[in-house]
Parts: sequence; C-alpha cells; structure tokens
Amino acid sequence: MIQRVSLAGSTGSIGTQAASVVRDNPERFRIVAIGARSSVDTLVEQAKEFSPEIVAIAESGREAELIERCPRGTEIRSGTEALASLGEAADVVVNAVVGFAGLPVTLSALGSGHRLALANKESLIAAGPLVRSAKETPGAELVPVDSEHGALHQCLRSETQGVGSGRTVKKLVLTASGGPFRGRKADALKSVTVDEALNHPTWKMGPKITIDSSTLFNKGLEVIEAHELFDFDFDDIEVVVHPQSILHSAVEFTDGSTVAQMSHPDMRLPLGYAMGHPDRLATPYGVIDWATIGPLTFEPPDRIAFPCLDLAYQAGRVGGTAPAWLNAANEVAVDAFLAKRVTWDRISSIIEETLMNHDAMVPDSVEIVVEADAAARRFAKSALEKQAQA
Ligand code: MG
Repeated sequence: MIQRVSLAGSTGSIGTQAASVVRDNPERFRIVAIGARSSVDTLVEQAKEFSPEIVAIAESGREAELIERCPRGTEIRSGTEALASLGEAADVVVNAVVGFAGLPVTLSALGSGHRLALANKESLIAAGPLVRSAKETPGAELVPVDSEHGALHQCLRSETQGVGSGRTVKKLVLTASGGPFRGRKADALKSVTVDEALNHPTWKMGPKITIDSSTLFNKGLEVIEAHELFDFDFDDIEVVVHPQSILHSAVEFTDGSTVAQMSHPDMRLPLGYAMGHPDRLATPYGVIDWATIGPLTFEPPDRIAFPCLDLAYQAGRVGGTAPAWLNAANEVAVDAFLAKRVTWDRISSIIEETLMNHDAMVPDSVEIVVEADAAARRFAKSALEKQAQA
C-alpha cells in the first residue's frame, strides 16, 4: 500500500533528504503535502516534481507567487497556521521544521492520529508533557528521525520487555561525534570562528544543528529527547564520544549485553526507518563496508570544555518549563553567534545565565510553553545586550 506523506520543512537539509527517500521508493510513498517557512524556489521545484495536493508557506504575502508557479490545481496555504495544517494532511508526517517553530506540526500530526516521523527534537523537548498526551490519540505514533534515537528505537525493538516494569534494559548509550572541536580545551575554544563551527567532520546538516553539535548542546537536547521518548531516568542515559559516527547508539541490558545499531552516516536511513515503520525499506542507505571501515574509537565527553551538555542534563532533571528555557536560550545564542555578535564560548554562558532565571511552571498548555519560550528569549536577549555593552 502506498503511504501518503506530508513534509513539513520540506526545503531544508532533512526535508530534501526525506524527498529523496520518497523518490527512491515510489512503490512505498507518495508526497501529498509540502511546506516551508520561506523558500519559494525549492517549494516550486518540489511541487513540479512530486505534484502534491497542498503546498504551504509560513511567511505571509508569498501566496500569489506560489499560485502562479506551482502546477495548476495545487492548493496553496500561507500564514502561521499553514505549516501546522500539514500535520493533518497525511498518514505519515515528517516534521523537519527547524527549532521551536516545529511544535504546532508535532501536535497537529499526533492530535490527528497520524504517524509522526520527528526530526524536530525541539518541540519534544520544550513541550514534553503536551507531546506525551497528544501521543495518546488513537492511531498516533511517534518514530524519531534523529539518527541516535532511530538507533535506540531499533535496539529496544528487539526487547519485548524493554519498557515499563520488569525492564531488562539498564541504560541507553547515546553516541556523539564530538563535533569539529573535539580534543580542544576551553582556552583554545574562545576564538573559534563561525566557519570552523560549521565544518562538521562526519555529518552534513543545516547550520543550527551543526553549531549545536560544535557545543555538544545537540547531544544535551538528545539526552532530554531520549528521556521523553523512551522514559529512562537521566542517570540511565550515558553519552559517549565516537568520532567516526558509525555506531549511532546502543542499549545496555541487565545481563551485561550491549546491542548497538551501526551504519555509515546517512540521514536517509533513519528517515526511511521512521517513515516506513514498522516495515523496513528495500532500498539500502549507509551500508557498512567492513573492508574499509577502519578503527572505531570511543572516549568520554569533555564536560569542562563543552558545558552545554551538563546544562541540558540539569534542565532535564528540573523538568517543567526548564527544557523550554534551555532550548529558547540556545536558539537566541546560536542566532547571535551565526550573526557574529557573540563568541562561541558565550553560547553556554548565555544559556546558563538564562536558566538561572527560569521560573518553574507546568507546561500543560501550548500557551504556557509559548510563554515560557518567549520569557526565556527575552532574558537571553537581555543577557546578550549586557554583554555587548560590557
Ligand atoms: Mg542526532
């Protein structure tokens, strides 16, 4: 049976790779809806190739351009609600929107009882309790696209008693590439440039997540993501640096066994896994060539040089709106770093200063999460200004 796919954030790095999975597997998937924030040219190209029923753009005022350039008969949607509406449009919804802006897509896909292939970890982290209750909708299913969580999902799948009481899984082991600055000490990290931070050694990704990888903030988000997805205590989630990015994560069982998932780094594999779940695709991505793979190495993360990792553990343990604050502060700090307004080492200190001012609330409504996000952004921006004046 051909599955109908909706792609939110279709023009970015993950979105275009999801489109390529559909292109390679026409007997499995058909794209019925696409949408992006503002990239009209790519949307038009994708509309011509995949003939979706719906094309959505979040930026208002671009509708006429799309109507004129997309194939006739395509329904064009625009404005703030347009992307969220993609969550209702198909059996399988890929959420590849960048950052907190992806939350409405996550909630609408799960709330409509569809399968959500989630690449937007920020929505899960900022609004954990909301996402958990949306997952209860009959038919709703959440399969992570993040390569580490896709790996954990596969490792846990083999274990029928993997979750709940009597669990036989002792801990989750999340691997991290270590990013471009692995091995450098705090002093040497003060002067790193935007270009150096954007130069990831193993993964080709969008700019936001690439910066997050350079600070290990991304791994911190992934620790919270693992906690939310698989219901493990923070004490039972370990991070290990593995520079080759071949072993994507592992689970350790009570009897001492560790089961891991391995492949060459290629996001189309976890994307296809999440989109096709519970079946596996017949098209291989990232197959290991054992003759040329070379040595695989593992080391503990440097928690002093990369304080973002522990800031995320802290916020995760506090819970409530703390992860929303953590995420918002980071989005502000990363934007400022990319715009060359702050140095790289300030990203963690802005997050730390912002978190110290977090006021605890229970994120049980979208309004509260949006308010927490806005409050944290205001605080992070004022921390930025203070620094600029100093
Ligand atoms: Mg990842």
